[in-house]
Amino acid sequence: MSPSGAMGLDLVGGGLQVVVATHNAHKVEELARILTPLLPGVELLPYDGPEPVEDGDTFEANALIKARAAHAHTGLPALADDSGIEVDALGGAPGIHSARYAGTRDDRDNLELLLADLGESTDRGGRFVCAAAWVDADGDFAVRGEWEGEIADAPRGDAGFGYDPIFLPHDGGGRAAAELAPEEKDALSHRRIAFTALAERLQHP
Ligand code: IMP
Repeated sequence: MSPSGAMGLDLVGGGLQVVVATHNAHKVEELARILTPLLPGVELLPYDGPEPVEDGDTFEANALIKARAAHAHTGLPALADDSGIEVDALGGAPGIHSARYAGTRDDRDNLELLLADLGESTDRGGRFVCAAAWVDADGDFAVRGEWEGEIADAPRGDAGFGYDPIFLPHDGGGRAAAELAPEEKDALSHRRIAFTALAERLQHP
């Protein structure tokens, strides 16, 4: 990773356009809700250029691959996230393979396979993980957020996306992530934790 000491946001005299390197509409919405109050003056633009091959071994490596591609294509500062769910009894799987765990990108297939793999196991601990990456002309960095919880026995709720119906966050009052209002999830999530750390680092390099 290149040195990031020169990085920092200079918003004096106007806004800063930042490209968000994701094609996932849910994530763009979540990131806009989370980042707008943290980084007032930053305008988030969707990225519609070529998607790089995400062949990193870690969430951080994949987030940096995506942010570097968006920065290279647009010349703008770029941010990206890479996220997924780790289940302790499955040795951390599906991890970085969360989006395609069942071989498709279908959320329902993925969570049903995860429930089947876990079976009757009483060890149901796990976490959502998000690595948030920033790349600009001065350098790059990635930070991580983790949201601890348990895997439910069956899907619950219909908000959110992905594995939300089977994730019971420890700070969710007994509800699945898919039973939280969007603003409740935003206040607690792995993405909130990671992007708060990213904003903090940009403001205090
Ligand atoms: P990515 O797009 O490569 O970061 O893959 C993220 C995958 O992890 C998604 O397709 C979901 O399956 C899962 N995931 C990440 N964040 C969340 C979340 O907040 N709720 C539910 N599932 C998530």
